[in-house]
Amino acid sequence: MAEKLLPCPFCGSDVKYNEKLEAVFCHGCDAMRTGYKHKRGSAISEWNRRSPDLRAGIDNIIEDFSGPLTGEDAVDIVDRLQQL
Ligand SMILES: [Zn+2]
Repeated sequence: MAEKLLPCPFCGSDVKYNEKLEAVFCHGCDAMRTGYKHKRGSAISEWNRRSPDLRAGIDNIIEDFSGPLTGEDAVDIVDRLQQL
């Protein structure tokens, strides 16, 4: 059975493999992972690949800023996200 596509990491929308263009596209934000001309299996694997470091970094930020946020917190969050 074919590997299932994960939702878009940018907007959370469902994505689809386009047979004609041989690429995975997000229908919410037009994100594309691999470029064109990737056979279904490799295009899906590439789309589903996520950086564990990025995920861990986001989880740490969420943990550190779990309460009500100030404007200063928002600036700190943006700074930390830009460093990931
Ligand atoms: Zn998207």
